Amino acid sequence: MARIGIYGGSFNPPHLGHSLAAREIVSHLELDRLLIIPAATPPHKALPAGSPDPDERLELCRLAFADIPKTEVCDLEIRRQGLSYTVDTLRTLRQAHPDDELFLMMGTDMLLSFASWRAPEEIVRLATLAVVHREESETVWNEVRQKAETLSRDLHARIVLVENRCVQISSTTVRRLLAMGAPNDLEPAVQKRILERGWYLTGADLKRLPFDRLAEISLSLHDEKRRPHVVGTSRTAEVLARRWGADPDLAARAGILHDITKALGPTEQLHLCRKYGMVLTELQRDNPKLLHAKTGAAVARAVFGEPDEIYEAIYWHTTGKADMSLLDKIIYIADYMEPNRSFPGVELLRRLVETDLNAAVFEGLDQSISLLRKQGRIVDPDSLAAWQCYHPDNDREEQTE
Ligand code: FE
Ligand code: FE
Repeated sequence: MARIGIYGGSFNPPHLGHSLAAREIVSHLELDRLLIIPAATPPHKALPAGSPDPDERLELCRLAFADIPKTEVCDLEIRRQGLSYTVDTLRTLRQAHPDDELFLMMGTDMLLSFASWRAPEEIVRLATLAVVHREESETVWNEVRQKAETLSRDLHARIVLVENRCVQISSTTVRRLLAMGAPNDLEPAVQKRILERGWYLTGADLKRLPFDRLAEISLSLHDEKRRPHVVGTSRTAEVLARRWGADPDLAARAGILHDITKALGPTEQLHLCRKYGMVLTELQRDNPKLLHAKTGAAVARAVFGEPDEIYEAIYWHTTGKADMSLLDKIIYIADYMEPNRSFPGVELLRRLVETDLNAAVFEGLDQSISLLRKQGRIVDPDSLAAWQCYHPDNDREEQTE
């Protein structure tokens, strides 16, 4: 009787997280074989921009898992037409391997939603559930244990918990970094193939795109919940540019790109800094969350071919600085008071920006510095310099715009 693991997923694309997990699973469960089963894509579900077709994705999986002992890529779900359900896959595998023990890999989130799957009682008859988990919070972990007990009692499920010490990597993040010209966390052969074929926007010329296309690509690189803010900032910046005599087109473009790397975590921010040769201050290194303005500016210039004015406006949009350009100020303040923002003081900013742009910038700086101080956080020296520069008592020459 052989022990066969089943590892399904979209693998779009397969990355180091997948291949490391496969190695761990094989050794932890002492598997004789591990089947990697890339999912078919349901006809109604649009794939992310630039994704390879299913056969090409299968090929990427073969490259990704080629060196992992006992692991093979299986085209079962991609060959099958229509929607794939786990239970269908298990039935087929059970027929092919009547005497073997099957282990179905799943994450903790999948175990928690297991009752809503198609035919859960049949799935647990066909396979042992192998729940791959990382160090989770006590609450999640208790939930998982309780769920496992319930399923064992009610459905006679066999469940094993597999500790996965691998880093968490998401395919979405991998795709975003590819589009931003900074591939990461891919097996070299997989990366090479992706770049050769230009998948995941790596082959697209994204320089100086017409605004609508730029907006489409930018929004595709954001999490759903941030999209209204990005659109709001762009529209507000365009309106402010008309009001204060800046270039509305540049303002709209800077607005739509200002948070372009915001969906990426600290590790990816530092990766982008290395890729784009950005020298960091100690404060920035210790607070990589603040880096999205810097990496966003680099991506706007290098990937989207935007001019220096836009680079600068994005670069300074979180901290501000002394002597900002007109566009810098517009992006700084549009980001702060676009229509989706709501906090005490936002109405004051909206009023001020109609009559006195510098006063609005000062008010924004003053509010954010006070908040940081209240939270006991360090204030960026550039923000302090900006605060001084735009302080109403400062007899800096009135700007003429
Ligand atoms: Fe931002
Ligand atoms: Fe923003």
